[in-house]
Amino acid sequence: MADIEINSLMKQFGTFKAVDDVNITVNDGEFVFLLGPSGCGKTTTLRMIAGLEMPSSGRIAIDGRNVTFLRPRYRNVGMVFQDYGLYRHLTVFGNIAYPLEVRRLGRAEIASKVEAVARTMQITEVLQRKPDQLSAGQLQRVAIARMLVRDADVFLMDEPMSHLDAQLRGQMRAELRHIQKTVGVTTIFVTHDQLEAMTMADRIIVMKDGEMLQFATPREIFERPATEFVATFVGEPQMNILDARLIRLEGRIVAMTEHFAVPLDTDWAESNGLVARLETPVRVGIRPEHIAIREKPDADHRIVAELYSFEPTGAENLYVLQCGSVMVTTRSSTTETAHLSKQEGSSLAVRFDPNWIYLFDPATGRTIA
Ligand code: ATP
Repeated sequence: MADIEINSLMKQFGTFKAVDDVNITVNDGEFVFLLGPSGCGKTTTLRMIAGLEMPSSGRIAIDGRNVTFLRPRYRNVGMVFQDYGLYRHLTVFGNIAYPLEVRRLGRAEIASKVEAVARTMQITEVLQRKPDQLSAGQLQRVAIARMLVRDADVFLMDEPMSHLDAQLRGQMRAELRHIQKTVGVTTIFVTHDQLEAMTMADRIIVMKDGEMLQFATPREIFERPATEFVATFVGEPQMNILDARLIRLEGRIVAMTEHFAVPLDTDWAESNGLVARLETPVRVGIRPEHIAIREKPDADHRIVAELYSFEPTGAENLYVLQCGSVMVTTRSSTTETAHLSKQEGSSLAVRFDPNWIYLFDPATGRTIA
């Protein structure tokens, strides 16, 4: 068990900064996710923690010990890679036993540890098979078993579920979270899948272009995103973003888009200093679940939109609406919208919940309020 402290970590390939000024403190036993799009520097960061890549500058400490330039084997970290990295010529037993053999443990001890971890990962029946005789789900379990078998201080996982089908991924999310919490080993998990991070993490680090944009709990990331990028990266379907200008209309502050006004909560607008931003452009963000729709306009549902496409998902209905040149997606429960038209081209009335509006600075991308 150990905490991890990373200060001013930077990695440069030639003149390109793949990781830039990353600062992270991971608490003992915590499950932390590195989340971001392809190429944002997640894997490079993880490889530096593992010792597979040397930093250009910065410091990495595990359990208070400076490991920045130590070789991987002296760091006591267990790792699972995207391609699992299993030895094809060894059986499952041999693969899981391998890290213990390297450390010269006795035969009986190795056998009992391998069998125990095989039971946890439910792969006892395949211990004598070779990797090419296993399904993707079994391969992944073996790779995790090999990581678990060592008494590592830290676990590092790089997209370990990327080869699994959707159903198995869903199952493995719950299982991995359960195992991590049961074993209690500090773990860093790399993914570009926001759902994976949101459902499993204690805290998430969102990265983009080598930089950390936010380090917070899933709930904070979702409800108080630091930037427009973070806001649109988490949540499915993604947050709607509209270009607008803040103006005063009929005594209240509204965000005026090209085609309609989005009323803001007055107290909120004033306490967030929006008066000083009147007449300036903003980006308005609203999540699909915070847009209500009705058949006919009323005092609250003033925006009239045309149904562009209707997408039933089972428990929920997605409505993609066209308001002038602006498209917005809404998400409502099937029962709530049962009576509404599902016919493309029909007219619907829309209300943006003023309590759930986000405003972003178009120049910096940072959250204004
Ligand atoms: P992915 O999800 O696609 O694996 P990532 O977020 O893990 O992406 P990294 O693999 O860390 O991203 O790569 C970050 C950037 O650094 C990318 O632009 C990549 O091309 C570059 N990069 C990584 N390794 C090297 C290398 N050895 N030499 C040069 N550039 C590299």
